[in-house]
Amino acid sequence: MSFQATRMLTPGPTPIPDRVRLAMAAPLPHHRKDAFKQIMAENQAMLRQLFCTEGPVIPLASSGTGSMTAAAFNLFEPGEKVLVATAGYFGNRWLDIVKMRGLDPVVLRREAGQSIEAEDIRAALDADPAIRGVFMQISETSTGVLHPIQDVAAVTRDRNVLLVADGISAVSISPVRMDEWGIDCLLTGSQKGLMLPPGLAFIALSPRAWARAEQISPNCYYFDLVGERTQCAKNQTHYTSPISLLVGLNEALKMLFEFGMDNVFKKQRALTCMARAGIKAMGLEPMVKDEKRCTWGLTSIRLPDDMQASPIIANAYKEWGVILTAGQADLKEKVVRLAHMGWVDWADITAALHALAYSLPEKPQGAYLEAALAAYHKALAE
Ligand SMILES: *Cc1c(COP(=O)(O)O)cnc(C)c1O
Repeated sequence: MSFQATRMLTPGPTPIPDRVRLAMAAPLPHHRKDAFKQIMAENQAMLRQLFCTEGPVIPLASSGTGSMTAAAFNLFEPGEKVLVATAGYFGNRWLDIVKMRGLDPVVLRREAGQSIEAEDIRAALDADPAIRGVFMQISETSTGVLHPIQDVAAVTRDRNVLLVADGISAVSISPVRMDEWGIDCLLTGSQKGLMLPPGLAFIALSPRAWARAEQISPNCYYFDLVGERTQCAKNQTHYTSPISLLVGLNEALKMLFEFGMDNVFKKQRALTCMARAGIKAMGLEPMVKDEKRCTWGLTSIRLPDDMQASPIIANAYKEWGVILTAGQADLKEKVVRLAHMGWVDWADITAALHALAYSLPEKPQGAYLEAALAAYHKALAE
């Protein structure tokens, strides 16, 4: 191993700031005592601000997929018809989960790298009035597509259809305004934009989604959202709390709000512009062509047919200490993903572009770092 820093530019886990690591290293408060309840009260106020919702944001001791499971089991009953809109690996996970819950899925599929548009959702709902829910991602992390969830919510909010949005790589990375937009279920995880280790998930419901959850008798002992809501009101969790992660969350949210969410989003957008400009100047193609549909937390590169992802990724790590990620499922060797979510800045992206360029079969000639930094400055100035 060479004498250099390791940069974890992956779409989860992401780097953890020292402030958060040190907060988590302090002696544990007991989870039934006042000091912990105080932390939970602060967390709850900040989480509502983060989700842009007035209702409770329920923390769950699980990875993000736990909150996806909780959504399917608490909001729908076996046999109900739902629309699963998928354009990649995480969309396909929704399909697996709703099938396991015994729901009757109608599948709306778009190719990897494409977005799901509100008009697609409208047409699918018009075609089948029995559909009671829509499951989709806000940001499809396997490809780097940002689906237009606000437009989709404008379609579902006036119908008897609950919109369940996986915001695991969107919340705290790009604006998501749950109440204002009319999202019925918004969920996220700790190890992406929230700058924490894996192990926490968060889920919030709209008033009509809570009403639905109240009608359905608990069917999952651990993920019982109505039960957790009662505990949440007491600044508690039902079972033993993941104390150190919730202490870390308190520090991470304070950092985000001290910097200001608008500034966080601006930085995320600028890093996206930076990564895209650098990649293009190297002669590579970002997988998502439409600037309005690229997510703000990662950039995926569609490799030319004669290149394979694994040797590039292996070299970037071995020689330069930069951890990049391959594509998922059938895109594994076709795609390299450069994540820039959470505690990541322009210097990390400079390092990543440098590592990438020196890991390609032939080093590109163009001034890719200059192009990348110019795009970064331009985006910050806008
Ligand atoms: C990371 C991710 C998940 C999975 O989260 P886990 O924490 O691994 O369970 C689901 N959906 C999206 C969009 C993600 O980015």
